[in-house]
Amino acid sequence: MSYLFPNYQRKELELIEGSHCTLTDHTGKQYLDFTSGIGVMNLGYNDPELNQVLLDQASLLWHTPNLYENGLQEKTAEKLANNKEYVSFFCNSGAEANEAAIKLARKATGKSKIITFTNSFHGRTYGAMSATGQESIHVGFEPLVPEFVYVPFNEIDPLKAAIDQQTAAVMLELVQGEGGILPAEESWVQAVQALCDAFNVLLIVDEIQTGIGRTGTLYAYEQYQIEPDIFTLAKGLGNGIPVGAMLGKASLAEFFGPGTHGSTFGGNKLAMSVACKVVERINKPAFLHEVQARAQQLFSGLLKMTEKNQLVKTVRGKGLMIGIELADQQTLIYVLDQLEANGLLALKAGQTVLRLLPPLTITEKEMSHGLNIIEKVLNELVSQDSFFEKGEGVK
Ligand SMILES: *Cc1c(COP(=O)(O)O)cnc(C)c1O
Repeated sequence: MSYLFPNYQRKELELIEGSHCTLTDHTGKQYLDFTSGIGVMNLGYNDPELNQVLLDQASLLWHTPNLYENGLQEKTAEKLANNKEYVSFFCNSGAEANEAAIKLARKATGKSKIITFTNSFHGRTYGAMSATGQESIHVGFEPLVPEFVYVPFNEIDPLKAAIDQQTAAVMLELVQGEGGILPAEESWVQAVQALCDAFNVLLIVDEIQTGIGRTGTLYAYEQYQIEPDIFTLAKGLGNGIPVGAMLGKASLAEFFGPGTHGSTFGGNKLAMSVACKVVERINKPAFLHEVQARAQQLFSGLLKMTEKNQLVKTVRGKGLMIGIELADQQTLIYVLDQLEANGLLALKAGQTVLRLLPPLTITEKEMSHGLNIIEKVLNELVSQDSFFEKGEGVK
């Protein structure tokens, strides 16, 4: 028997070693990694500088309670603010960062209603789960936290109709991640910000998957010419060390005074030492420029190879957060298995989308190699007549 809850559908494969963009499994087989461990390992595996930072801090001091000054938190928060007036609260995961955002929004406005979007994903704790606009994630856990309302993504009228006197905040992802790599339209996001401003509603952006360079800028919101009141981070922030953050405009600082909110481990010294270095490394023009170049290589490569492939519906995304929508769920499962067999690890998003999240440090050569594997698998799929005759695929 397994002594674990079966809440994850696990592959019969254990990864035991990683280096840069390559992972090795328990049999010694190597894979090019296009998952980054679900958008976490943005600087790849076994990075010497991050290893050293962690080891140095580990031999100095692991943890102090948040009853004392914490220079590493200050330093990391300053880097995260990125020359803007944002203050940080540190926690240990994405869901916790969103919980903090929800609590801050309610406390700062004195209002309770929070509007989120269909297909969104904000985490698994009660507040974050209630914010998540996917019924499948709620099943069996009702009653949810009250006063969450879901409206269609990329549509302005239903949002307009939903905002009222009791609305504290609107919360969204700029590229819906788990929901299927669905980018928000720029004009829509700007209209959302304008609506929020007009009705005195806070705008919360969940950057847990899109942030920390994933979309080619430090934060995805920079590409939309908006300034959220609150935004949340986690996944890529610690490059595998558990850490989350909620940032809010400095004007919101007073609403999280002493005793209002907290976390024992939040902003832990080990986590902060790594997070600080991660942000320093990623938020450099040369680094982000290289991410954009790799993103361009990936996107145009995929477009070219899928142009005439009827099993591929669309290729979409931002930066190194790319989704390939396939004809159906069975095709997706087949493609994921074939990629793995050919030495490439990828993810799914929603029921039909192949999700690619390679480490941001991937080289041009590794990207070409990955594209070749994807092309081979997608071409084989089309030529696999028997697969479709048996009715296992589409048509
Ligand atoms: C992963 C994710 C979360 C949840 O993060 P956890 O660390 O798993 O709690 C929340 N929002 C978005 C957009 C995510 O991608």
